[in-house]
Amino acid sequence: MTESIGESAGIPRLSENSAGLPGAEGMVKPLLGCIADDFTGATDLAGMLVRAGMRTVQMIDVPTHPLPSEVDAVVIALKSRTVPAAEAVNSALVALDWLRAAGCRQFYFKYCSTFDSTDAGNIGPVTDALMTALGTDFTIACPAFPENKRTIFNGYLFVGDVLLNESGMRDHPLTPMTDANLVRILQRQTQRQVGLIRHATIAGGAAAIREEIQRLRTAGVAIAIVDAISDADLMQIGAACAELALVTAGSGIALGLPQNFRREGCLGNRIDANASSYPVGHRAILSGSCSLATQAQVARAIAAGCPAFKIDPLRLADGEDLVAKALDWATPLLSGNRPPLIYATADADNVRAAQARIGAVPAGALVEQALTRIAQGLVERGVRQLIVAGGETSGAVVSALNVTGLHIGPQIDPGVPWTLSLGASPLALALKSGNFGAPDFFTQAWNVLP
Ligand code: ADP
Repeated sequence: MTESIGESAGIPRLSENSAGLPGAEGMVKPLLGCIADDFTGATDLAGMLVRAGMRTVQMIDVPTHPLPSEVDAVVIALKSRTVPAAEAVNSALVALDWLRAAGCRQFYFKYCSTFDSTDAGNIGPVTDALMTALGTDFTIACPAFPENKRTIFNGYLFVGDVLLNESGMRDHPLTPMTDANLVRILQRQTQRQVGLIRHATIAGGAAAIREEIQRLRTAGVAIAIVDAISDADLMQIGAACAELALVTAGSGIALGLPQNFRREGCLGNRIDANASSYPVGHRAILSGSCSLATQAQVARAIAAGCPAFKIDPLRLADGEDLVAKALDWATPLLSGNRPPLIYATADADNVRAAQARIGAVPAGALVEQALTRIAQGLVERGVRQLIVAGGETSGAVVSALNVTGLHIGPQIDPGVPWTLSLGASPLALALKSGNFGAPDFFTQAWNVLP
C-alpha cells in the first residue's frame, strides 16, 4: 500500500481558506468528507455515520457558511445523480475542494444502493474526476446495504431476493436499471479499468482484502466492485479501506470506516449527534417517489385513514393549478389528528403514460415544481414537521425551503433518520429515499420524533 490519507501539501489550513470558510481557527477538523449525489442519499449516509459514532452534519450543496463546531464528518448533498455528467463532475470537484479546505482526511463519494445511473454517468465520471483530483490510482465501488437487502455477490447487485434488473428499479422514471452486473455497468461509464473483489476474499478479512487490492492495483485495475452480503463484510471492507484517499459506495461502507479513525485515537465513542430541540407544529407528508416501496407506503397510509391528495402530471401539464387546490385542501386538515399526504406517486404504467404524453424530464420537473411550491405553502401555514419521499423530490423541496444544512437525528428505518434543519427557524424533516422505509413509514415515523 503506497497511499496515505494524511493531509496533502495542497490542503490549506482553516485560517488560509480562500473563501474564509469553513470555520474558526482552532476548531476541531472533520475527519471524513463525503459527497453524496442526491439528497436522501446524503441523509442516509449521515445517519449511518451517526450510528457508527461520528458527529455528522449534512450540508445542502457546497456551503457558503461556516461549519458548526465539533463535527467529525461532513456530508455535502449534491443534486447530481441525473444531471449531465459534466455538471455532476464540476459540482463534485467544487465540493471536494471545500472538504479539503475544511481539513477532511478521507473522502467518500456516496451514490444509491441500487447504483442509480445511466451509461452516460454519473457514477463513473464523478469517480474518475475525484480520483484525478486526489491523485489516487485506486478506489472501491460498493453500493451494498445488507440491512436494506442490497447485497453484492460475484459483482451482481441483488435487491432482496432478485437481481437489480428484475427489481422495481427497472422502471425508475429517470435511471432505469436494466443490468445487474456492476462491473459491466461501471465499465461502461469509465475509461479506467474496473475489477472485482469477490466474496471469498471478503470472507478472508481485512488483510486478505488489502492484499487483493494490492494485486488488482498491480494488474492495472483502478476501481474494484466489492462483494458484500452482510454488515460483517462491510466492517472488514471498511477496515481494509483505511488508507484509501477515496472510497465510493452506498451508505453501507460508512459502518466500517469510523473504526479506522477510532483505532488511530482521533475519534471518541460519543454518539451525541442527536439534536436536542425539535420544533412543535403542524405535520404533513409529501411524496414524489414512484418506487415500489413508496407506492406501498402511500397505499398503506391511505388505507390507514390518512387524508390524501393526488398530484397528476397530466393535469399540471394542462395548466390546472393543483398547487392552490392541494393547499386549500390541506389547510383545514393541518390541525387534525392525521397529517395530510400529498403525493404524485404512481405505478409504472401511469408514469409511462404521463411520460409518453409530456416527456420524462418535463413530467418530473412539473411534479417537482408543484411539490416544492406546496412545501413552501405548508410551511407558511405552520407545518414544522415534514416527511418527504423521493431523493430528487427531497433535494428540490429542501432547497425551496432555503434549508442550508441538517443535524442528523434518530433513525426511523434503516437509511432514514429524522433531521433538524440548521438555522433560526428549524424544521423537523424526514427525507426518505424512494426505496427505503417500512410499509407503515408515513404513519409510524412520527413516533420516533424526539
Ligand atoms: P426516488 O427516490 O424513488 O428515486 P425521486 O424523487 O428521486 O424518487 O425521483 C422520482 C422522479 O419521478 C421525480 O423527478 C418526480 O418528479 C418524478 N415523478 C413523480 N411522480 C411522477 C409521475 N406521476 N409521473 C412522472 N414522473 C413522476
